[in-house]
Amino acid sequence: MASINKNSNIIIVGAGVFGLSTALWLAKSGYTSVTVYDQQPYTTNSYRDGADAASADINKIIRFSYGNEIEYQTLALEASKVWDEWNQQLADLQESGEDVGLPPGIKAGDKLWFNSGMLRMSVGDTPDKFEQETLKSMEKEKGLREKQYEVGNVADLRRAQELGWAHKLDPFHRKEQGKPHVAVLDSKAGFVAAGRSCLWAMHLCQRDGVKFVLGPYTGKLKALVSKADGSINGIETEDGKTHSADLVVVACGGWTPAILPETSRSIETTAGSVVNVQIPRENKKLWDRYAPENMPVFTWGMKEGKGMYGFPRTEDGIIKFGYRATKWTNYDQVNGETLSVPKTAFTPKKETNVPLISLNAVKSLISEFLPELTPLGINSTRLCWYTDSIDNSFLIDHVPGRPGLIVCSGGSGHGFKFLPILGREVVKIVEGKGKNVYGQMWRWREPKQGEKNNGLEEGPDGPRVLAKLDMASEKDWEFGGSPRL
Ligand SMILES: Cc1cc2nc3c(=O)[nH]c(=O)nc-3n(C[C@H](O)[C@H](O)[C@H](O)COP(=O)(O)OP(=O)(O)OC[C@H]3O[C@@H](n4cnc5c(N)ncnc54)[C@H](O)[C@@H]3O)c2cc1C
Repeated sequence: MASINKNSNIIIVGAGVFGLSTALWLAKSGYTSVTVYDQQPYTTNSYRDGADAASADINKIIRFSYGNEIEYQTLALEASKVWDEWNQQLADLQESGEDVGLPPGIKAGDKLWFNSGMLRMSVGDTPDKFEQETLKSMEKEKGLREKQYEVGNVADLRRAQELGWAHKLDPFHRKEQGKPHVAVLDSKAGFVAAGRSCLWAMHLCQRDGVKFVLGPYTGKLKALVSKADGSINGIETEDGKTHSADLVVVACGGWTPAILPETSRSIETTAGSVVNVQIPRENKKLWDRYAPENMPVFTWGMKEGKGMYGFPRTEDGIIKFGYRATKWTNYDQVNGETLSVPKTAFTPKKETNVPLISLNAVKSLISEFLPELTPLGINSTRLCWYTDSIDNSFLIDHVPGRPGLIVCSGGSGHGFKFLPILGREVVKIVEGKGKNVYGQMWRWREPKQGEKNNGLEEGPDGPRVLAKLDMASEKDWEFGGSPRL
């Protein structure tokens, strides 16, 4: 591979968070020839209808709670400063009336990130180990612990009252009902409008000279183009054209292992389950109660086997719930290899339902915590595919034995919040300055034989394979009666 310079041709495949952030920071760092390819026509579908990437979603959580993984806490804090700036930039655009040619799906004055707070609820009688480690880590960052309000802590309660957060400490009125409520409210956290944030990042990339080639023919990678020595020097797209490059970055989220099968030892394509409830606008009581001003993002037993979370309602009235206790796999044959691959509403083999286990878990959560939503029933479901790594850290590195190729994936269910900042670290890795903290954490790594590797050791024989499960269907969307098991 020729060494990379600022005029090198760089191709990024994938316009999700990992690809966008990489493109943004390459352009910011002075790289003049960066092109992003994606199979999705994002300028027309606006990361919404028909888009099935993990990044193409209504909302994602911004959190700082990372147990003792202080590096991610630090990175999330750095990202949060940029989220603030981005909100401000969109507000300024509205103020100035300047037309900067924003893509459809985002307009001046829109908010990307919402500081609703996030309530971390434990299942047991005391905060779980992860929560305790989180609070300890937060003490190391000036001012961060002060933004946490632990239920039952008198000093925290006083601060929450003074600063107007007390109404979010027990939004489900657990204590009033005599039910256990062990929880910490993070008043610095919240959520982002995910698809809209991708559009903003795309706009910033284009402003800085990044080109986008989008759509199922011109934008879809068919094959990597390599030289006789195995080095990569371009891509072939579905329309049969080849595009030469000095460096190719594969940032294809859940599709990555199918494109680079050697990564399947270190990352596995898995799905989180998403279940939505629609609040009718006419129901003013519910509309107001679940507005971000009144309802924080909430999690329940994330590290205690429950793996549940939910959001305040969106501007369209959707309350999104997630189930992450088990992340599902979908093993299939890809070019003679058995790999887990995404199965969505838009892949050749389709899936719009979630496993019954996931649906029933969300329904139980709603019945227990938000019973006033049960008459509404479930409105829609989705499997959201991403890649889990062997240790839940990202995988961003040069691919061994294939000069000219970088893998940029392994989001492990927590990558979105880093959209504004991730690419800064990717550029260091591209430039071979990867011996920094994040370059080390995200380096190419192999699973340890005979050890548990975050479930990757189960492979196609494991219990998480979709084909082995009962899937829910619309007839399971109503509450009441005895649930199908
Ligand atoms: C259910 C769920 C909940 C999550 N919640 C959170 C959260 O609350 N907070 C948080 O920070 N993170 C969260 N995440 C993680 C976050 O969404 C991911 O880490 C992040 O979006 C991954 O981005 P990506 O760019 O790697 O992948 P994707 O967003 O999947 O993007 C990959 C892109 O590659 C494209 N592509 C694939 N194959 C090809 C091809 N052959 N040619 C061209 N293009 C191709 C796809 O079209 C897609 O646009 C969650 C993830 C899931 C699934």
